[in-house]
Amino acid sequence: MASHSPAPVHKEPRGLKVVSESDRHPKARTVQVARPKREETSFLPATVQGLGITLKHFAKNLFSRRENSDIETINYPEETIPYPERNRGLHRLMQRDDGNVRCVACMCCPTVCPANCITIIPAETDNAGVEKFPAVFEIDELRCVVCGLCVEACPCDAIRMDTGTHAMPVEERGHAIETKEKMLARGTPSIAVQGGEGPDWRDE
Ligand code: SF4
Ligand code: SF4
Repeated sequence: MASHSPAPVHKEPRGLKVVSESDRHPKARTVQVARPKREETSFLPATVQGLGITLKHFAKNLFSRRENSDIETINYPEETIPYPERNRGLHRLMQRDDGNVRCVACMCCPTVCPANCITIIPAETDNAGVEKFPAVFEIDELRCVVCGLCVEACPCDAIRMDTGTHAMPVEERGHAIETKEKMLARGTPSIAVQGGEGPDWRDE
């Protein structure tokens, strides 16, 4: 018949106290569960403690001067922190030398966009050497996940996300749509040469 012999009393990590171990198998043990104290079983002290911390932060926010405190919050969007250099901001459409949109409506960016938030309606153009242009180019900034894949996919530096501007909060869904005109107004002439600089441009 198996018997239990007294074991050295020690605490297990989960608050169990081993009081004896089996002679037949060391894993067969008699344990005593360490019950929490009465005051620890009530949510009330923890709730009061949590409220105290909240009140402390509230008073700190209310009465301390921001420049002398360690408060992390800012009054966004009136205040912003400096964004990192490689921040992906609002989209902009780059311009040709004549101010027209560089985009040739190749559809690479709406194809690669994981959020399916780019709408382009291509049209033919009379501009010499250019086959198509986007008659409509819209981006739904509420659906955009700011991945930057549209910029990576563009073969002619027609779209960038280097504005350093975060999409502004809007009250109506339609106001989050960036139109071609708005994005082109943020654009500048690109230093890239459309179609490259001739057949030997890689050798330079
Ligand atoms: S940043 Fe990403 S999600 Fe946003 S429009 Fe470009 S590809 Fe789509
Ligand atoms: S990938 Fe560039 S050129 Fe092609 S549709 Fe998009 S912005 Fe236009």
